[in-house]
Amino acid sequence: MSLIEPSSLAPGQWHNIPLPLPGAPGGSEAIMHAFVRRSRKPGPTLFITAAMHGDELNGLEIIRRFMRSRKLSSLMGTVIVVPVVNVHGFGMGSRYLPDRRDLNRVFPGSAKGSLAARVAEVLMQEVVMKSDYGIDLHTAAIHRFNVPQIRANLDTDETAEGMANAFGVPLILNSELRDGSLRQAAGDNGIPVIVYEAGEALRLDEISIRAGKRGITNVMMHLGMLRGMPKVPADQAVADSSYWERAQDSGVFHVLVKPGTYIKKNQLLARIIGPSTMQATEVRATRAGIIVGFTQLAMVYEGDALFHIARYRGMHEDVANQVEQFHEELGPEYGT
Ligand SMILES: [Zn+2]
Repeated sequence: MSLIEPSSLAPGQWHNIPLPLPGAPGGSEAIMHAFVRRSRKPGPTLFITAAMHGDELNGLEIIRRFMRSRKLSSLMGTVIVVPVVNVHGFGMGSRYLPDRRDLNRVFPGSAKGSLAARVAEVLMQEVVMKSDYGIDLHTAAIHRFNVPQIRANLDTDETAEGMANAFGVPLILNSELRDGSLRQAAGDNGIPVIVYEAGEALRLDEISIRAGKRGITNVMMHLGMLRGMPKVPADQAVADSSYWERAQDSGVFHVLVKPGTYIKKNQLLARIIGPSTMQATEVRATRAGIIVGFTQLAMVYEGDALFHIARYRGMHEDVANQVEQFHEELGPEYGT
């Protein structure tokens, strides 16, 4: 039985559609709430999902602000938003489901599979398969921070490439996934999905939230679902590969570079102080690139992933300047 039938809903307002999920052992119900809004004017259907990982909160706030946007009065088509996909994980402040599975590795899911597979199946059948396009909102994992960035398959999916560019953040990571993610499963069904990664789990980050809300609006303008032209930075950088710079020693971690900056090969990025020797171990860049993610913890183990560094096409310092300008533009105003 299908629970979401946009054509049966009154246009011009949000409708809260509860999608039942397997409940908790104690008997409490679990419900995934989808909010649907359609217009009288015809147009495509876009889904927007958040908290696929139950501790990633920026997406929920992005969706809340988006739902209140006055621009929606000019909507053409239908939007389905799901502020919390991983309802079970969200209730525990956990990235994972109670069965310890990562929901974003079990798509397209199965009605007869694990708890995670059943949750994935509900989202797939009720939301994804009824849409033409999708945007999946994420943050970095706990104690890590991602500079606002879009991840999409640019090589074989022109529609996703157009959406990725229109979103309007300076950094785009090109990647084709075969990992059981929502993005992969939707793509396999001809539904292009881009992933927005920004900020850190269990925290709200204002720049990431503003950039996310603006990005959704931009993509909808690009798809002809809202009036207006997307606001896109003059220079966007596309990365084809990335790597993690890892700790070569355990100790207290001092960062010497800013996120979003361009770094040269062999540049000094950080120092790790070992308490037994009080000596500093230098962390230098193995390759040149832009820092797109980093650990937030000042205490690290040898082998810990410290900096996520992306290698960009035609890379130069202008891209990093663009990132800095972007942050200034969207940053909270202080004083005046
Ligand atoms: Zn995530």
